[in-house]
Formats: sequence, structure tokens, C-alpha cells
Amino acid sequence: MSNYVKDLVAEVKAKNPSEPEFHQAVQEVAESLSLVLERHPEYRSSKILERIIEPERTIQFRVPWVDDQGEIHINRGYRIQMNSAIGPYKGGLRFHPSVTMGILKFLAFEQVFKNSLTTLPMGGGKGGSDFDPKGKSDLKIMRFCQAFMTELYRHIGSDTDVPAGDIGVGGREIGYLFGQYKKLRNEFTGVLTGKGLNWGGSLIRPEATGYGAVYFAAEMLATRGKTLEGKKCLVSGSGNVAQYTVEKINQLGGKVVTLSDSNGYIYDEEGIDEKKLAFIMELKNVRRGRISEYSDKFAKAVYTPVDSKLDYNPLWNHKADCAFPSATQNEVNGKDAQNLLKNGVYAVAEGANMPTTLEGVKHFLDAKILYGPGKAANAGGVATSGLEMSQNSMRLPWPREEVDSRLRQIMKSIHKTCVDMADRFGTPGNYVNGANIGGFLKVADAMMDQGIV
Ligand code: NDP
Repeated sequence: MSNYVKDLVAEVKAKNPSEPEFHQAVQEVAESLSLVLERHPEYRSSKILERIIEPERTIQFRVPWVDDQGEIHINRGYRIQMNSAIGPYKGGLRFHPSVTMGILKFLAFEQVFKNSLTTLPMGGGKGGSDFDPKGKSDLKIMRFCQAFMTELYRHIGSDTDVPAGDIGVGGREIGYLFGQYKKLRNEFTGVLTGKGLNWGGSLIRPEATGYGAVYFAAEMLATRGKTLEGKKCLVSGSGNVAQYTVEKINQLGGKVVTLSDSNGYIYDEEGIDEKKLAFIMELKNVRRGRISEYSDKFAKAVYTPVDSKLDYNPLWNHKADCAFPSATQNEVNGKDAQNLLKNGVYAVAEGANMPTTLEGVKHFLDAKILYGPGKAANAGGVATSGLEMSQNSMRLPWPREEVDSRLRQIMKSIHKTCVDMADRFGTPGNYVNGANIGGFLKVADAMMDQGIV
């Protein structure tokens, strides 16, 4: 690490205490960018990276709401408007008890680079709440979403800031949020993405993050003359991203043997085929049950509950070819990365945001496997949100094939940017450097053009 980067990371830690995930995201990006900053002193003297690290605006607000028994609850709401150099702020909303300002800052920071990589005009943002939707009735969810939007609406807009879903925010929540926005503003605009199909949503948006991660993996495999046909894959999570990752892997001839939630994981040696995936979708999206029910239904599958005494996740300790971490941040630690390598995994495409710790990333890079970091591999979701924004602006829906083919094209282009940038800066095959540098350059040049704002 250069002295410049060391000092920068030290300053970020001092200025943003108790935000370890944000420090981690900044450190990874800054290390990649030291290669660029040496060659481009103008970015350094204009303090571009220092400016990108500081959010343009952070908003924190009270979300008071009343449940169906009349009890009052108070949650915390946030929106981080990180960078608008290349377009309106864009990024998801996360509802999960672990949400803090630090978590959302790391996500918003990552989003800036990811959105730039998509080739579409979108700045970076992220938001959410410490509200836990798990096990809550639709009525409670609606009341919370309405209370959340009652403050958020004054900070967003179709040309200002366009939120979408993330953990705990799917089609149901986007519906309630959109309804309340429309009521408060008295306007029907593309202010949120991930909307329902008959009120401005885009075909393929629900599928996009998972499909995109698999398209990205296929591009990486192609550089070594391989395809997903017959490959054994480990997938974590069982939400939106994981479900469509499984669907696309199956379509491309691969076999998925694991899925998880925060209570445990299932291992199904026979593979999670289309029929079993339909069961998962009903279980998770309709009945909102736990993954353990999978092994009750399919007797040959083995369920393993989370063991908090372990310093590794046994899901990552099975023989396989490819891995798709698709649950949450830091779910693959150093030991997990070593286990994956030991078990023969040679391609990792991250559906989740920053699912691998810095130590884990180092193991993957040292082993020179095909490692696609989240900001490149999972960019298909926000890219298709960008396509939803275009359709809303034109007031014209595109057919499924058109959106899917644009998504595929965007993932191809992101892959090429990563490969080209890694080559150009002397680290061939390093997708981490490729993604960070590729994402940075476009934003940095826009900031140079727009002056000190
Ligand atoms: P969902 O809420 O649909 O699903 C999340 C899944 O991950 C659930 O199975 C959940 O289990 C599990 N999970 C969440 N937190 C934890 C935890 N702390 N420990 C273990 N398991 C956990 O979210 P998404 O599928 O949308 O998001 C998954 C990841 O993908 C996130 O990192 C998100 O930021 C990223 N992402 C999502 C995009 C999108 O378009 N949705 C776009 C780009 C990235 P449980 O139900 O038990 O909590």
C-alpha cells in the first residue's frame, strides 16, 4: 500500500469511527486506485478520491409507526446520497435490524463504482432502516413503509434520487412505498424501481441481479475456455438474488447444491432443479418460511443450522466448481475462502455486496482464480433498474427479450471493462482492480469537468 493510500485510509478510520464495513470498502478501492493515482497526479491534486469518500449528503430520520395492536414503534430511517457526478443518485433500500449509517455508507460507496460500470447515467446512493420485516403481517409492513416514505419523499424524485429494493425490500415493499409517494406528491413518476409490471415496472428486473451474476460468471469462465454446463455450484442466501441465480445456473446446465438463510443452510447433492426452486420461491416469497423446511419436503437434502461457535461457514466447505455468495456482507471470511479453494472452486461471482472479507479476497487473488467482486458481478440489478428508468421516461415498456438482451450486453461490457482496466494497469486477471479502476475513471472525469462542488 502506498503512503498516500495508507494515510487516506487512516484518515477515513479516524473520521468515521465504528464503521468497519465502510473502512473495509474504502481500503479495497483505495488499494486498487493507487495504481491510477500514480499515473494521474491531477486526480490526486483535485482530491477526487477524498471527495468520493465523503457523501454529498446523509439524511437520518425518525420513523414512528403504529402496529395493528395500536402499539407505537420508532425506527431509524436513512438515505445516503453519495455521488451524483454522472446521474441521479441510485441505489437500494435495505430493511434489516443490522442497518446502521456505516453499513449504508459502505453500500452507497460501492454503488458509485458499480453504477458507473453499468455504462448508464446513474450516481450512487443507498438507504434503509433498522426495521425488521421478518415475521410481520402485510398490514404492519404497509404501515411501516408509509411512515418511512412520509419523510423520504421530500428527498427523492425521478431526476434526483431513485431508490430500489435490497435486503428486506422486495416487490411488496416497493408497492407500499410507491403508493405513499404518489399520494404525498400527487404525481406518477419513475421515482422507485422494482415496481410491479402493470404500474411502471420492467420485465426481468426481479431476475436481473441473479441472472447478471451468472452471465458475469459465464464471461469469466469463457476466458478459460469453460462454460457452466455440468458445473457444481454453491449458492448462499435464498432471497431475490439467490433464487434467480439458481434459475439461470439451471438454464445454463449447471447444478446448484446449496441455499441458506440466517438460520442455516441446505445441501442437496441431487441439485436444486426447477421444481425444487418453485418450492423455494413459494416458501420464501409467499409463505415467508425458513429454509429448514426444504429438507422436510425433500428427504435427501441435509439441513445444517448455524453454529455460532464455528469460525467458518460449512456451506463453503463442499466440493464444487463455482460459488455465488448471495446473502450478505462478509459471509465469506479468510477460512471460508481457503476452504473454497481447497474444495476445488475456481470461479466466484458475488451476487451480494462485499460478501468476502479483505483476507478472503487476498486468498482468491493470490490463488489467481476467477474472482468477480460484487460491484461488477451483481451490477445487473441496478443496470436493469436503469433500463426501468428509461422505459418510465419514454412511457414505453420493452419486451422481455429486449431487456434480457440489454442486460446480457451490459454484463459483457462490464466484464470487458474489468479485463481491459486490469491489463492496462499491469494486473491482468485481477477483476477487483479492473472493477474499481473502471468504475472510478468515469466518475473522476465527470467530477473534474464539473468543478469543486
Ligand atoms: P433478500 O432480502 O431477498 O434475501 C436476503 C437473503 O440473505 C435471505 O435469504 C436472508 O436470510 C439472507 N441473509 C440476510 N442477512 C443475513 C445475515 N446477516 N446472515 C445470514 N443470512 C442473511 O435480499 P436480496 O437477495 O435482494 O439481497 C442479497 C444480497 O444481494 C445483499 O447483499 C444485497 O445488497 C445484494 N444485492 C441485491 C440486489 C437486488 O437487486 N436485490 C442488487 C445488488 C446486490 P433471512 O431471510 O434469514 O434474513
